[in-house]
Amino acid sequence: MAKDTPQPPACLEELTRLTRVVNKAGEPLGQKLSSYFAPTLKEDPAEAELVSHKLMIRAGLIRKVAGGLYDYLPLMIRSIRKLEAIIRASLNARGAQELLMPAVQPAELWRESGRDQKYGPELLRLKDRHNRDFVIGPTHEEVVTDIIRREIRSFRDLPLNLYQFQTKFRDEIRPRFGLMRGREFIMKDAYSFDADEEGASQSYRDMYEAYEEIFRAVGLKFAVVEADSGAIGGSHSHEFMVLADSGEDTLIFCDSCAYAANQEKAELRGYAFDPGTERPLEKVHTPDQKHVPELAAFLKIPASAIVKSMLFVQEGGDPVLVLIPGHREINPHKLQNALPGGAVRLAEPAEAEAITGVPMGFVTPVGAKVKIIADAAIAQTLSGVVGTGEKDYHYLGAAPGRDFTVSAYHDLALATEGDPCPRCGSPLIVKKGIEVGHVFKLGTKYSESMGAKATLRDGTESPIIMGCYGIGVGRTIAASVEQSHDADGIIWPFALAPFTVALLPLQPRDGALMESVAKLFRELLELEVECLLDDRDERPGLKFKDADLLGLPLRVTVSTKTLAKGEVELKERASGQVTFLPLDKAASLLRDIKEKALKNQ
Ligand code: ATP
Ligand code: MG
Repeated sequence: MAKDTPQPPACLEELTRLTRVVNKAGEPLGQKLSSYFAPTLKEDPAEAELVSHKLMIRAGLIRKVAGGLYDYLPLMIRSIRKLEAIIRASLNARGAQELLMPAVQPAELWRESGRDQKYGPELLRLKDRHNRDFVIGPTHEEVVTDIIRREIRSFRDLPLNLYQFQTKFRDEIRPRFGLMRGREFIMKDAYSFDADEEGASQSYRDMYEAYEEIFRAVGLKFAVVEADSGAIGGSHSHEFMVLADSGEDTLIFCDSCAYAANQEKAELRGYAFDPGTERPLEKVHTPDQKHVPELAAFLKIPASAIVKSMLFVQEGGDPVLVLIPGHREINPHKLQNALPGGAVRLAEPAEAEAITGVPMGFVTPVGAKVKIIADAAIAQTLSGVVGTGEKDYHYLGAAPGRDFTVSAYHDLALATEGDPCPRCGSPLIVKKGIEVGHVFKLGTKYSESMGAKATLRDGTESPIIMGCYGIGVGRTIAASVEQSHDADGIIWPFALAPFTVALLPLQPRDGALMESVAKLFRELLELEVECLLDDRDERPGLKFKDADLLGLPLRVTVSTKTLAKGEVELKERASGQVTFLPLDKAASLLRDIKEKALKNQ
């Protein structure tokens, strides 16, 4: 049949029929682009900074509704379903059970756990028509603990692991990067309940393993790092981090001994530091020198010889003066952990002046009326430079114990590149990462405050030991795009690709060619190889461009030229490799390529 002969109606009907073929889960296996809702954009959207955010908008995966709120379009939903299925399989294989809790939660539960105040403005609060207080769940520890305290009585009912896929809301201060940091987002959250520590540790290990399996299965390059437990509480936690330069988290690694931690958590001891030699306290004139670098230059001493004194205030507590060598920064998370209780923050200049009576920059530990805590290194200081409590004067030769009293020493400094590894002393390396999953050992924080107890074998009653485990579904997909793309578009891993094959007939008006394409389309669907057929009457160049942008793993081109040889052209999106497959075997060969890729991921 000649080129430009219209497609026979039978062929068109067949193609439409094929888009109604569904798999066991009810998902369509094939779609044709002419009628599929995947609006692509040629230009980068102005609102997006991150590559993954730009590409997800351009490829028609998401659209912004308002800050941190997105529509998930059909291609995105397909990818989400794949990730959810991978997660489900891993959790179900470890005995976890799926349920679904409400997004709207009674505020009363948050009062009981004591998180009502602690969670702060990220928690969206609302009232119902009866003026009762509710929150939109940013996480579900309270609701799940409420279920358990009502339903579980005995160790015989444990262990238990309950999970859900649920829409969370967090009123993030800076929602950005598309689905990476949304306000509304889908999370898989799981909660484990055990009668004893041993069981709780096993539950934690099971989830840790499941997470390794899940992130490996989706083809991500990731690292597991020790993490700070933050507002959620608990004793022990690990984060699963996708390594990417654009990541918001700073990670600390040791190549020699495999120590890996979030910078928020990273321990630090024995960093380079000059304690000086003992000498009497001497007051010197330091006009206008209130910042460490200028003061060090003025006194011709290294910054490390200065003892930085910073005033912090704590919600519901007393002010605290915190000391650290001048060349180091305080890690706010370690400081918060050193001062249990309300939120700790640096005092505003006016606030600090009101408390100490001294202008900022000249606050002194010598004769201080507030409690002093210090970074562990300060314990060795023999001669440090400190403020005098008087504008434009500093002391030389100050030493803790002799000139001021430190009530406690803690590891407070922020670990950075080149610092000694806390395990083996080798130089640490810094990398950036995107947190896609987080596992916590919660202990009895929620079960105690909310009264979730079980009777043990010996007849005594004890709070149930909990763990919680989260994966950001949208963030994981965004992280995959962030890690796997090129200048032309997304490069989907097989496991998350919305479809496996992009089928491109180059002469869609050629009836005979379209008959062959329809046959291949049908064969692919019969073999459950999901296929997006670009049946649009567009130039080949545009089809290739869109195929690269959408980034499906296998691009199959059918043209009059390839058909003349009884072939189709295969281009693998990741490698760019081009091969030709015999038309009659193409479907099964493509299925084999897909299965092999999924196995090796
Ligand atoms: P972050 O430090 O990035 O704010 P988090 O520690 O608050 O994360 P968790 O409370 O541990 O996050 O939530 C579990 C998972 O939910 C995270 O590992 C992440 O994948 C996802 N997540 C958290 N906040 C968001 C958000 N604002 N947008 C999208 N996903 C999120
Ligand atoms: Mg957060």
